[in-house]
Amino acid sequence: MKKKIAILGSTGSIGKTLINIIKQDIKNFEVVLLSAHENYRELFKQAKFFKVKNLIITNKKSYNKLKKNKFSKNMNIYNDFNNFKKIFKNKIDYTMSSISGIQGLKPTIEIIKYTKKIAIANKEAIICGWDLIEKRLDKHKTDFIPVDSEHFSIWYALQGIEKNLIEKIYLTASGGPFLEKPLKKLKKVNIKQVTNHPNWKMGKKISTDSATMINKVFEVIEAKKIFKISYDKLEIIIHPKSYVHAIIKFKNGLTKIIVHDTNMRIPILNSLYSPKKIINSKKLDFKTLNDLDFRDVNPKKFPLVKVLKMLPNNTSLFETILVSINDKFVELFLRNEIKFTDISQKMNKMLNLYSFKKYKKIKPKNIEEIIEMNTKIKNNIGYLLKK
Ligand code: NDP
Ligand code: MG
Repeated sequence: MKKKIAILGSTGSIGKTLINIIKQDIKNFEVVLLSAHENYRELFKQAKFFKVKNLIITNKKSYNKLKKNKFSKNMNIYNDFNNFKKIFKNKIDYTMSSISGIQGLKPTIEIIKYTKKIAIANKEAIICGWDLIEKRLDKHKTDFIPVDSEHFSIWYALQGIEKNLIEKIYLTASGGPFLEKPLKKLKKVNIKQVTNHPNWKMGKKISTDSATMINKVFEVIEAKKIFKISYDKLEIIIHPKSYVHAIIKFKNGLTKIIVHDTNMRIPILNSLYSPKKIINSKKLDFKTLNDLDFRDVNPKKFPLVKVLKMLPNNTSLFETILVSINDKFVELFLRNEIKFTDISQKMNKMLNLYSFKKYKKIKPKNIEEIIEMNTKIKNNIGYLLKK
């Protein structure tokens, strides 16, 4: 029988990679739902190819355009995520959550009830709302697979292993485009230089996060939440070539290292076919493996690693504040309104304000509190920057 699947954020980089994987094995899958925000053309193209019945497009203008298309008459087109109950009569087999940003949190949590397995790429959902996600996963007995490449590798390496045997997990960071660039030259770098990641092809937002190293801080938070490991057992290590995705040191002296090529196809493909273990990496030769070149992170070069020391061990709204402030600063940088080095400088300063620090003790009770905090920060940051 064909496996029924849904893709939230099918027009993005992760979504399209999954679409291409399914195209190569079309006889085994039925796509039940696809979603996008604005890109109605791509969404329609995908829907036509897979004969998808249900589409969600959240931008009103794009929704109207899609509705007007005479070829979309036999598709159910929705403008929001409030119709899962209508769309899913029984639990489907697999969902990919690959919407970008905090907007992905609500649909991710709400679709859990309707899917046997969920692969989550959306970092923001995990960082800000993991406790709420986990509760739903337990309640509806839905399996979860992380898609961020480091977390997928850790998840893969830890199958069947007890967490209390772990001494340390190292998350590898490439160091981004400026690893070798002198500190004083960073003030003048432009958007093109910042978003030109040496190893991964990604969108501008996540490439900027990679250049400032906040992406790795986010990944430490993700790892802490997903694998229930305290911050003192998680460490960032620079590995410029990005072949090593996870290093797990066990208390008995054994170290497990997961190596594969730098391609998001690997976690995505494996999340789809799991429990089958496929991986499907290009074969890496010894020359490559002889050049792993691990290094410590220099906090002068990457001041945002200092954020790690600010994080509370309990789940709190501070994580949402962190994600929201960073979102806003990256947006300002990508609009050429602030310098690259301003992102880390201003962020470190702002996160130390009492008005934000006090949220380290407050745990979000529901999705609404997280979204409200995100909106508040986004609307007020201009004012805070002037202070
Ligand atoms: P993209 O920006 O390429 O795609 C985002 C997708 O979400 C698109 O389908 C977009 O629709 C949709 N979307 C955007 N805004 C909204 C909104 N407000 N409401 C509903 N849908 C929306 O992102 P990526 O695929 O690169 O990343 C997705 C997530 O995965 C992110 O959280 C990212 O951090 C994480 N991730 C990505 C990696 C990568 O290699 N790309 C690696 C690890 C994690 P439209 O196209 O119409 O705008
Ligand atoms: Mg990653």
